[in-house]
Amino acid sequence: DSFDAMGLQENLLRGIYAYGFEKPSAIQQRGIVPFCKGLDVIQQAQSGTGKTATFCSGVLQQLDYNLVQCQALVLAPTRELAQQIEKVMRALGDYLGVKVHACVGGTSVREDQRILQSGVHVVVGTPGRVFDMLRRQSLRPDDIRMFVLDEADEMLSRGFKDQIYDIFQLLPGKIQVGVFSATMPPEALEITRKFMNKPVRILV
Ligand code: AMP
Repeated sequence: DSFDAMGLQENLLRGIYAYGFEKPSAIQQRGIVPFCKGLDVIQQAQSGTGKTATFCSGVLQQLDYNLVQCQALVLAPTRELAQQIEKVMRALGDYLGVKVHACVGGTSVREDQRILQSGVHVVVGTPGRVFDMLRRQSLRPDDIRMFVLDEADEMLSRGFKDQIYDIFQLLPGKIQVGVFSATMPPEALEITRKFMNKPVRILV
């Protein structure tokens, strides 16, 4: 039960320890390794359990840092949460040189376009702005291999279902999907059925 035993890259471990984490939480112990193997993972967990670092570690471990193209897309229900995830991703990936950008409403579209143009590895965002960036072709989906839905139940209750489906339609066919949700209402189960391939289920 240590981060050292998970087979993570040295520079990711450095980021995790520098961030102040010493031991993995329960969800991290169970979730990081399957995610790093490229498996689809459903994690039913409340916030406060350490789910953010679970998917951030899984994403950071698998990125190709020589390819400065968006390879992972994380969706979250609110601007604040997306920006919080951006910070964690950037901090944990500090020694890997990860480039992360948060695409959220209420900020300049031009600025988003400029940053995406300059090249990022990971985009974290709210469904509306992310779809807008895809539609404008400012965010190129071609190299996206990982798709994470954080607080999926909350995104659905905020009416983002159609936008999540629209985004998924634009992503490459073979893609790793991680769904994080405190509860699993029927609409969330439908997402897991439609988007995921033999998902591993983890309940914390
Ligand atoms: P989350 O569920 O991702 O929102 O995380 C909840 C809180 O737990 C955040 O303040 C994290 O920084 C903290 N946290 C997550 N994982 C760990 C860990 N392994 N050790 C200590 N704190 C952690």
